[in-house]
Amino acid sequence: MSLGKHRKRLGFSENGWCEGGSKCRILKSPNFDSRPQNTTIDLLVLHNISVPEGIFGGTEIENLFLNQLDASKKIFKPLLNLKVSSHFLIKRTGSLVQFVSLRDRAWHAGKSSFLGRVGCNDFSIGIEIEGTDFEKFNDAQYDTLGNLIISIKNFLPALSAVTSHSFIAPGRKTDPGPYFDWNRVREAIETAEKNIFLFP
Ligand SMILES: [Zn+2]
Repeated sequence: MSLGKHRKRLGFSENGWCEGGSKCRILKSPNFDSRPQNTTIDLLVLHNISVPEGIFGGTEIENLFLNQLDASKKIFKPLLNLKVSSHFLIKRTGSLVQFVSLRDRAWHAGKSSFLGRVGCNDFSIGIEIEGTDFEKFNDAQYDTLGNLIISIKNFLPALSAVTSHSFIAPGRKTDPGPYFDWNRVREAIETAEKNIFLFP
């Protein structure tokens, strides 16, 4: 009997927000809209992010998704007019923040297509993992990610695939990058005996 199989999952309220208490912090981003009617949410897209690039541990990713970056700082100039978000952020410590309800469309993928279906924001959930294309992610991040994927699958049983931003926006995006360990995701899915495919 594996420990992973019986760990405490995150709950979600009917309106799509986590009920994790201290395990999931909610910061509501204004950068979202409704999904097209009758959309089946079946895809999860993994990203990496750091703000500023390569700097970890602050609160600037949150500020970016809340449109609250300090406009007087030159380093944020290129980011000021972006209106972006993701459903979740997993910080270097493994702590989890939710910005957009699972029911709604977060603005994380941009121009994208998954196996011929364009506009992935419509039918996907975006998870940002604090990191870069150039270094390893932390164990705590994989633990949170595995639990989050299984928790989302429990809430949205139609979820059938996990992919990378680079897979749905090739040539334009490279994240979560070569240091991301897909085996850790595969393990979490297999341990929970869930039917979810990985691309790649
Ligand atoms: Zn991305």
